[in-house]
Amino acid sequence: MALIVQKYGGTSVGNPERILNVARRVIETQEAGHSVVVVVSAMSGVTDGLIKLAREVSPNPTEREMDVLLSTGEQTTIALTAMAISGLGRQAVSLTGAQAGIVTSEVHTRAKIATISPERVLEALGGGNIVVIAGFQGETADGSITTLGRGGSDLTAIAIAAAIKADLCQIFTDVDGVYTCDPRVVKNATKIHEISYDEMLEMASSGSKVMQSRSVEFAKKFGVVFEVRSSFNHNPGTIVKEETESMEAVVVRGVSIEKNQAKVTISHVPDKPGTAARIFTTLAAANVVIDMIVQSAGAEGATDISFTLSKDELPKATAALEPVVREIGAAGIKAQDGIAKLSIVGIGMRSHSGVAAKLFEALSAGGINIQMISTSEIKTAVILEEARIAEAANLVHAAFGLGAE
Ligand code: ADP
Ligand code: ASP
Ligand code: MG
Repeated sequence: MALIVQKYGGTSVGNPERILNVARRVIETQEAGHSVVVVVSAMSGVTDGLIKLAREVSPNPTEREMDVLLSTGEQTTIALTAMAISGLGRQAVSLTGAQAGIVTSEVHTRAKIATISPERVLEALGGGNIVVIAGFQGETADGSITTLGRGGSDLTAIAIAAAIKADLCQIFTDVDGVYTCDPRVVKNATKIHEISYDEMLEMASSGSKVMQSRSVEFAKKFGVVFEVRSSFNHNPGTIVKEETESMEAVVVRGVSIEKNQAKVTISHVPDKPGTAARIFTTLAAANVVIDMIVQSAGAEGATDISFTLSKDELPKATAALEPVVREIGAAGIKAQDGIAKLSIVGIGMRSHSGVAAKLFEALSAGGINIQMISTSEIKTAVILEEARIAEAANLVHAAFGLGAE
């Protein structure tokens, strides 16, 4: 008998029939002799719908109230899932994040899990229940509802698995596992059987949103091995775990793309100590998250500084920077959207050379211009024109031989 945590995402609980499908799968697991904790997301589209509703009543709703609102999505699903299980003749109990003992930081809409006290979960399991927990939510030490950032039900599942020392953590979604690229973009992408935490983390944080990146970070920190698999069939999925020696043999594990990026260039920045610090502390103070940064070679005592960020952050960034540009004596600021990022990820890159060259060659063969480049130990990323990102992903995927025959 094992203790199993199963998480079902938005599409998997997207309508009553699918909730019943989840109920049947969970019961199947229990009938095989296991104790089951189920973590569910809001039904697909519900969280986006709630965000839209909020904007219709207020241009700038407080993040505290956003959390009160958004947490209702998952609260609906836990009740429906528990009802479905009960309707099929099994004992089930639903718990909100707070009731499951998830205590978080006070940063509303992207709170971090501080502690979990799973006594109530264990007690309900001990009483023979299937325990259904709301994903994506927790509460602060003084009892305010918080949410864990988009895709945060993944984090709930992994954190609960760590807290109750589950034997197995399964993330059920609408694809068979983690693929070499988003199968909606690259049709012949192949399923990855095993991937290291570091690779999964790099892929997730560079656009492969099949897993929330913070949940992968948490899994790595607490050594939670988990499987990503489909709720619509019984195929084995992808195991995410600590790296093994054999994983090193694969140079590129996968390709990620991220759309909706923007680039800001500050031109003719005086080439002297303190100017970059002034620019980026201003952005940090405005809570703008920056991705790549490039400073061109200085000439005549001045340089250009460019950086990329999510397109949504652009108005906030330019508003914060305009006074700074004048103050430091730069010539001007230019913002450009319509760009996207493509990344290749693999721990094998540490020990193989020529990987970046092969990436650039593949793009050049397609006549696709590279606007920016950045590298880290296990990732190489480029900024490209957004309109050609799918074409680029397919070219690069093929160049590294990642596709099915
Ligand atoms: P859930 O609602 O179950 O959490 P998500 O929509 O968050 O599901 O994640 C699943 C989706 O992630 C897939 O439908 C797929 O389009 C997308 N995706 C992006 N990159 C990948 C990848 N490398 N492998 C598999 N799926 C990916
Ligand atoms: N419902 C939340 C979202 O849409 C959390 C999740 O689905 O994991 O982001
Ligand atoms: Mg998700």
